[in-house]
Amino acid sequence: MPDFEAVIGLEVHAQLLTRTKLFCACSTRFGEEPNSNVCPVCSGMPGVLPVMNAGAVEYACKMGLATDCTINPVSTFERKQYFYPDLPKAYQISQYAEPLCEHGRVEIEVEGERKTIGLTRIHMEEDAGKLIHSPGEGASYVDLNRCGTPLIEIVSEPDIRSSEEAVAYLKALRSILVYLGICDGNMEEGSFRCDANVSIRPRGQKEFGTRTELKNINSFRNVGRAIEAEIARHQDCLEDGEEIVQETRLYDADKDITVSMRGKEEAHDYRYFPDPDLLPVTVEESWLERWRGELPELPMAKRDRFKERYGLSEEDASLLTAERDVAEYYEAAVGVYDAPKKIANWVMGELLRELKDCETSLAGCKMEPAHLAELVRMVESDEISGKIGKKILPELFRTGKTPTQVVEEQGLSQISDTSELESVVDEVLAAHPGEVERYQGGEKKLTGFFVGQIMKRTKGQANPKLVNQLIAKKLG
Ligand code: ADP
Ligand code: MG
Ligand code: ZN
Repeated sequence: MPDFEAVIGLEVHAQLLTRTKLFCACSTRFGEEPNSNVCPVCSGMPGVLPVMNAGAVEYACKMGLATDCTINPVSTFERKQYFYPDLPKAYQISQYAEPLCEHGRVEIEVEGERKTIGLTRIHMEEDAGKLIHSPGEGASYVDLNRCGTPLIEIVSEPDIRSSEEAVAYLKALRSILVYLGICDGNMEEGSFRCDANVSIRPRGQKEFGTRTELKNINSFRNVGRAIEAEIARHQDCLEDGEEIVQETRLYDADKDITVSMRGKEEAHDYRYFPDPDLLPVTVEESWLERWRGELPELPMAKRDRFKERYGLSEEDASLLTAERDVAEYYEAAVGVYDAPKKIANWVMGELLRELKDCETSLAGCKMEPAHLAELVRMVESDEISGKIGKKILPELFRTGKTPTQVVEEQGLSQISDTSELESVVDEVLAAHPGEVERYQGGEKKLTGFFVGQIMKRTKGQANPKLVNQLIAKKLG
């Protein structure tokens, strides 16, 4: 059997963070009472006219600029016809023949190797509503709140060769969208969704194999697993001499298999034609210039700068720059106390863990970057132990108090006073004559035991260096 290679292309739908919908003034807010954000335009009443949301064009163009696309000065909206209960107009307004953005690229990194994934196009379109199935009642409900919400569809070239690359690509895209502030990237709420096109071919063959399309996978983890399962299925088919049928499939995460959903539609099935109610979208060069000037430093550039400027490893720089607010927090802290590696460790270890535990973003953290900087400085200068530092971080996080304040309030500063510590050491040695005898008989590793006892008595506040010196002196 030949050695096979996977070929993957992804279609990503990202919901834009405009306040109102693409062609009407209804709110785009998530989680509202069903059918409360609906008007004659987005519910598909006859005789109404759509009016383009200019903010959506700006956001879509910013994504195009951030991914090195050509922005077409004129693009058009088409109607894509299909029937489904969540689509009251029975057509979706989308861009087909002339999309807003084309020929872009995104850099990804997998196991230390960088690679560029081409973007075929980025176009604007409206979202459909949602069906809520209630099997218990034998009924399904329709919620039209999402109807008409602005989306961009980002279509990649078939440049991806493994599930790892696919996941890295999605993470890179999501990170850029969130950095730009144009999408919240929330996969669970459906504001970032992905369809994966998968085929395989014998390694070395130029032509692509027949592809299948996996629809609406709802987490990064499942994207990877779904693609793996589909590659394995293609391989089994070919090895059994079966043909791959071009079709749309669904991933069943519980069983870790993909199942056929429907035959693949072709473009002509949708009877695309230009929407007669909408003018072409025109984008002026002067707007592009302004938007280009408003782009933030993007994740990959920030990652490179962090490595260079702060001497961080690839992994650390990538973790610290994955979210823009975390990256900015880190830099602000380093600006206050110049210990880039130490602060990186505290941010990646303690702060990110605390965010996870509290199920919040940095917006919910009251500890300012300067407080973290102060905390790290106090640990580094032996004013408090690292253990105490870690212990009080959750309180700083919740209350917004400064580390100095908390250390004073709770009397936590490190005991570095020799005479004070000496009496504790004496007590501990006196209380454990057996261990002292064994130590003096050569069992030097009992030092750890004594240090532990002393730490216990001082509630972790003893200066460990001093404690070690004192033990050695007293028993030496
Ligand atoms: P549609 O799915 O709407 O028919 P396209 O033909 O534009 O759209 O292709 C969609 C995606 O499928 C693109 O991301 C493209 O890279 C990918 N693709 C096309 N051919 C293959 C193939 N043989 N194997 C894997 N992916 C493919
Ligand atoms: Mg498709
Ligand atoms: Zn509306």
